Amino acid sequence: MKIDIVSVFPEFFEVAQLSLLGKAQDKGILQVQAHNLRDWTHDVHHSVDDTPVGGGAGMVMKAEVWAECLDDLLGLSTSAPTQAQGTSPADATGFTDRQPVLIFPNPSAPLFTQSAASELSQAEHLIFGCGRYEGYDARIPTYYRRQGIQTREYSIGDYILNGGEAAVAVMVEAITRLIPGFMGNPNSIIEESYTGDESLLEYRQYTRPSSWRGIEVPSILTSGDHGKVDRFRRDESLELTSRIRPDLIEHLDCNRLDIKDKNK
Ligand code: SAM
Repeated sequence: MKIDIVSVFPEFFEVAQLSLLGKAQDKGILQVQAHNLRDWTHDVHHSVDDTPVGGGAGMVMKAEVWAECLDDLLGLSTSAPTQAQGTSPADATGFTDRQPVLIFPNPSAPLFTQSAASELSQAEHLIFGCGRYEGYDARIPTYYRRQGIQTREYSIGDYILNGGEAAVAVMVEAITRLIPGFMGNPNSIIEESYTGDESLLEYRQYTRPSSWRGIEVPSILTSGDHGKVDRFRRDESLELTSRIRPDLIEHLDCNRLDIKDKNK
């Protein structure tokens, strides 16, 4: 998978060289490249924003500069950025063949979920645009949708960040760990919260010692009876979900729960 990220703070994404993301790039599974939006400006101040039409506080990111940048990354234009500042412009060759998906973090958009992460992990090329200030001109995603480019906007939660960088870092991490070969142990992503048909919260986990500072691990987990352990974990998963995230359990079809679940 290739991931291009456009930001006025591309240095933010140096973190992508660390940990599992860095290893996946070393293995050739993933390529992450951050670009400085200001590389596509033409004025002496490298301005990317202007005052809001209709008045109001703050500044709005300009459609023209975003479009020059995104056209380049999407392979829709032949213009090159005016200068490189620590990051290089993407190689546009072949991008259109790989059906890139354009993603903008936006607090007013639908919530980014595990199922969105799972769907996007199948894509070959993702391009993220990080908003700043009061956000980006709303015509940018509209324009690219009209060009037939798959364009998504997602919120990562009901709060406001200073910019889209942290939101993109969250989405990139959630998406890339689902790419086959990314995780050392592929089973780690099978039994997890928000995953699978039911999307329940995961049961609580413990490690040794079984007694620590006066708190015991539930004895059933050390019983060696795998059937009972599975039952215990399943019950805990249902209980935690109904208590903490009842919205996740309301959609479940009772007929698909097993008989012991129904009698709980
Ligand atoms: N004026 C906007 C509003 O009230 O909805 C907030 C703009 S915010 C300060 C600047 C940028 O940060 C947004 O354009 C978006 O890219 C990003 N951002 C902030 N909060 C976010 C969230 N909860 N989810 C996704 N992106 C967010």
